[in-house]
Amino acid sequence: MASRILSGMRPTGKIHIGHMVGAIDNWIELQKKYECFYFVADWHAMTTETDTSGIKQNTVEMVKDWLSAGVNPEKSVIFIQSLVPQHAELHMVLSMLNTLPRLERLPTYKGHLKQVLEITDPKIEPTEEQIDRARSKISYGFVGYPVLMAADILAYRADGVPVGEDQDPHLELAREIADRFNRLYGNVFPIPESLHTITPRILGTDGRKMSKSLGNAIHPTDTLEVMSAGVRKMLTDPQRSRREIGGNPNVCSVYDLHMAYTSEERNLEIHQACNTAQIGCTECKREAAAQMAKKYEGYAERRAVWDGRERQIIEILMEGSRKAREIAGATLQQVREHLLIDYENITA
Ligand code: SF4
Repeated sequence: MASRILSGMRPTGKIHIGHMVGAIDNWIELQKKYECFYFVADWHAMTTETDTSGIKQNTVEMVKDWLSAGVNPEKSVIFIQSLVPQHAELHMVLSMLNTLPRLERLPTYKGHLKQVLEITDPKIEPTEEQIDRARSKISYGFVGYPVLMAADILAYRADGVPVGEDQDPHLELAREIADRFNRLYGNVFPIPESLHTITPRILGTDGRKMSKSLGNAIHPTDTLEVMSAGVRKMLTDPQRSRREIGGNPNVCSVYDLHMAYTSEERNLEIHQACNTAQIGCTECKREAAAQMAKKYEGYAERRAVWDGRERQIIEILMEGSRKAREIAGATLQQVREHLLIDYENITA
């Protein structure tokens, strides 16, 4: 049974409902039961983006959302990754325990290669020549970011990591690295478990991954009208071309919203009503938007309370980073001792 949890998020600015359902709602539950460390992954943001001009502002805006949603700095340690240099130090040590081919086999790396090559069909495998061309455009930092993720987790000796299934290969790598270190140098790291959360994956209003930069996001601060307009655009069962034809909620983005925001009992009714064509998509979307708006009632006002209090947010993050450095510093001391590079303990 896990006792210490670690999770982080890249500084994206104002968060959208995909972040809320996929991570923040779960963070709030976890902090009731576990010792939690939640961090702003600013170094991770730099693995895919060389323009750093928005990081500070995006950090503050994102943390306003964390606090407004209920992430509580009295219960959880909230901090900034780059203010805890032990992440980078441990990343460097752990890099020695990995091979490049192992990292290049990770699905995120392969997916990124295809993105660089602009291959949109997931079934198409790039040729050797294309791979070489794409590799020359990918930074060393990007290839190694799953090792940085392992360092993020292991620096706190966290034994639980809330992850979606898409992150499983990264957690598996962290487990392998922890095990390899322990076998080579002695036990320092607990082997972290994944805490799977069964949350629906909320897609953007155009059917792609929800993202601020793609302009397809719905925010918890939006009004009912804005939410409704977003939900109206969402993709439904593509086979349901007419109201009289029954649909399949399991392939419908709007049903995912119901899974997140509507009661279980009503979900079953909607599922059946969709199958038997007793509910139309327009009506179903209206209901999904209304349920979402109900969940975030008062949220925009709670968030607005933080406007003008940016300094206070930075102080919360500074204090959290100080606590994080203490814990991560103790781990790194143990790492040095096990690596026999704890020079203060040298004997003549
Ligand atoms: S009725 Fe609802 S669940 Fe069914 S396809 Fe339409 S929007 Fe999706």
